[in-house]
Amino acid sequence: MLELFVQGGRSVNPSRNEHTIAVSCEVSGRGYWSGKEVRVVLHPAALGTGIRLIRSDLRAIPICEALVSRRYDASLRTNLANGEAKFQMVEHLMAALYALEIDNCICEINAEELPSLDGSSLEFVEQLGSAGLIVQAAPRKRLVIRDRYRIGTMDGWVEAVPSYAGESYFEYQLSFDDQTPIAPQAFGVELSPDRFIREVASARTFVTKAQAEEIRGAGLAGHVTNQDLLVIGSEGPVENQYRFRNECARHKTLDLIGDLSLAGVDLIGRFTSFRGGHHLNGQMASQLAELAAQEEHETGSAFLQHRKAA
Ligand SMILES: [Zn+2]
Repeated sequence: MLELFVQGGRSVNPSRNEHTIAVSCEVSGRGYWSGKEVRVVLHPAALGTGIRLIRSDLRAIPICEALVSRRYDASLRTNLANGEAKFQMVEHLMAALYALEIDNCICEINAEELPSLDGSSLEFVEQLGSAGLIVQAAPRKRLVIRDRYRIGTMDGWVEAVPSYAGESYFEYQLSFDDQTPIAPQAFGVELSPDRFIREVASARTFVTKAQAEEIRGAGLAGHVTNQDLLVIGSEGPVENQYRFRNECARHKTLDLIGDLSLAGVDLIGRFTSFRGGHHLNGQMASQLAELAAQEEHETGSAFLQHRKAA
């Protein structure tokens, strides 16, 4: 059955069915913070499973759903926990799954921190892409934004507004203070698997040279070289090169997509972050999950009333 929403005289595209991957695939590497070797094996999953993370290194093999209700605050990354099932830096994997429209997937992980790889989603996207997609027999749940929601302050905010024609648009506006070597820049994308692969997936994590020195000075991330992410000094990336002129804004867009995907539904609307980070993204994801739950409740009651009347 085609679902058609009409907004301001323009129709919103009908929803798609859920997907999983056709075969298992895997990615290995080391965590940025822990330096630990970790292997992520991604498996196909049944309809309605959602994204689930499993700690295959622990005896009880505990499971955590990749939902914002499992998120806990940490600086510079997005973490999830359900009892013993703890996971750090999930956002680059989440962005790849969401953008490639993979809704059902079991992610078997043998350490707490996910691999940093080259600081982007590129390897996840390559492996998931070569695994192939299977279309499943039920429509993917989605949330159509009908009002304007803004979280944050004048100095940093995340906003969701209705889309013009049913698109999912994500944008990041970057503007640090005068002390940083990173120039103000912005990036926006009307999300599709193709555009994510071409324009977003390979944008890497970045830190300023001063931040890198501080982190290394604290004895953290000792194994991480200047080629494992972008370390940005006054002359640009140290011992490295930008993949895009506005690679930093593109990476922040990647993080925004991964963090908002924890709402657990397809998001139809325009999502913009101005100087936001994982914390604000997490608050917006909670708001979106709440809206989706409300909408589901209302649709359910309307359906029951309709049945009673009939
Ligand atoms: Zn990131």
